[in-house]
Amino acid sequence: LNPSPYAYQPFWPDEIVCSRHSDGTARCCSCGRYEPLARGAVGRFADLEDRGRKSCGACLRTVVTDSDEGTGLWHQALRHFRLDLGLFEDEGGMSKAGMRGAMERVPVLIVGHDSLNDPSVRGTGHGAHDDDDVSSASHTRGLCLYEYTQHPLGGQLRAFLRGVNCNATVSAVLEAMGGDGFAAAAAAAASGAHITAVLCLRGLPRDLAASVLAHEATHAWFKLHPRYDPTRHMPRQVEEGCCQLVAFLYLGHLDEQDVSEENYFVEEGPGDRKLRQYFQYCIETMTDEVYGEGFRKAAAAYAKIGSVRALLEFVAANCDFPR
Ligand SMILES: [Zn+2]
Ligand SMILES: [Zn+2]
Repeated sequence: LNPSPYAYQPFWPDEIVCSRHSDGTARCCSCGRYEPLARGAVGRFADLEDRGRKSCGACLRTVVTDSDEGTGLWHQALRHFRLDLGLFEDEGGMSKAGMRGAMERVPVLIVGHDSLNDPSVRGTGHGAHDDDDVSSASHTRGLCLYEYTQHPLGGQLRAFLRGVNCNATVSAVLEAMGGDGFAAAAAAAASGAHITAVLCLRGLPRDLAASVLAHEATHAWFKLHPRYDPTRHMPRQVEEGCCQLVAFLYLGHLDEQDVSEENYFVEEGPGDRKLRQYFQYCIETMTDEVYGEGFRKAAAAYAKIGSVRALLEFVAANCDFPR
């Protein structure tokens, strides 16, 4: 069998490019469509002036370029969390008022490729393409930067208590360990995680940026949850899978909210509705273990439970999907 002379994308069946050219042909960094080849052709892509990234005219219509727009999208996502998903309702006697306020105060920054891929920055990266390997780091589209007050005593104390008489009171143990450990441990328990900032890649169309921010908001929600315990490890597949599910469902929600007539195709190419379908398709068809399998497991659990809130509360408490 001869290899196909054309490169082909299943979502955009009209998009074909000669295989000979498929490597060198520019693609839109958001919808993946190929730039028309002919010099001066209608529909040449815009250079986003960020590491060679380009945007097609369809994605450029709603492009997000500054942090004010990003902040607006962040607040819309939080509104969805609050009103549609009920994620800030108190649960089991635990208040979420502080959580909601903390999320509303998070600075949202729309940044270029290099800021998102700075190896010295610690956070929960969001590889938006294909594999969860080194190469996907170059496709990060969002980042939730957080830190938590974890007094070293926290870990030591657990180890210490495991090895000592279980009847010893915590304060007796702390006293035996010396210092003002008790105050530090109490402060650590009270302060928990702090979200420093949420970053989103510049130059994405509005609804893609919105879904990236909904994904990052889910990370922030886990970190700020009253049950969140930084000493307990939540598997990446579980956390990223839930974030992908919320992003996916948010795209569906935006679709329901869209009452415009335009929809599937516009002069520049795919319309908002078609693009949202594509962004959902990308989430559904990722093949890697963390984002792809994580999404499918989260979606299966959601289908069983029927409530995003119940699913996320379970995950926050158990660091695992319900079985
Ligand atoms: Zn595009
Ligand atoms: Zn993520």
